[in-house]
Amino acid sequence: MKKLIAGNWKMNGSLQSNTALVQALLSNAAQWKCDVALCVPAPYLSQLQSLSKASPLLFGAQDVSMHEAGAYTGEVSAAMLKDFDCRYAIVGHSERRQFHAENDALVAAKAQKALAFGITPIVCVGETLQEREAGLTEEVVKRQLAAVIHVNGHCISEIVLAYEPVWAIGTGKTATPEQAQHVHAVLRGQLRAASAHADRVHIVYGGSMNAANAAQLLAQPDIDGGLVGGASLKAADFLSIIAAAH
Ligand code: PEP
Repeated sequence: MKKLIAGNWKMNGSLQSNTALVQALLSNAAQWKCDVALCVPAPYLSQLQSLSKASPLLFGAQDVSMHEAGAYTGEVSAAMLKDFDCRYAIVGHSERRQFHAENDALVAAKAQKALAFGITPIVCVGETLQEREAGLTEEVVKRQLAAVIHVNGHCISEIVLAYEPVWAIGTGKTATPEQAQHVHAVLRGQLRAASAHADRVHIVYGGSMNAANAAQLLAQPDIDGGLVGGASLKAADFLSIIAAAH
């Protein structure tokens, strides 16, 4: 399957710097052999919509509300994201689980709302360092994915799944290709038990992926792409990761 490299800008960017970054990426687009997406802060979705027009660049949001509309101050609905042609919405990123107390049930409801509006949720799962050291990695990621499978049933093959060990996000520590492949294989097995179409689900790795380690990670049989934070903010670094995905 064609790999997917998705950037997560987190809370970074400005109208001016976004234009420069996207133009630098697009100047290389003829070389891309994978799908490329950028998940940007909500105020910049309209800018991405125009910058990416008539190009292969896909884009999405970093979160979506579990509610459809109404008195939910500060929330952004799936319908609103769809208005701007969003292809993806990250749900359950560890920073939202940690700083916004998002739990498995909420993440599953958000994934369901995205799917209902034709947006592909990029569902993030991953263990903390403490959980890994306690030997709980498989248990944790399986519990997180099970909640999403429970709510989304046969639609589960429409998601993108991101394995992001929390201890590797923004820390410069990367899971080894073997560690990542092991967890990806566990997740693939869980998806297979839930859906006949599990093999077409992109399971992407995230956690300090960079120009130096991307090729080895992406060579693993169950690593179908990357979710890239810090390195997606620099055109040269992000383009090197894209080049490693073929
Ligand atoms: C992320 O935020 O999804 C991520 C993987 O960040 P980083 O690449 O900076 O570790």
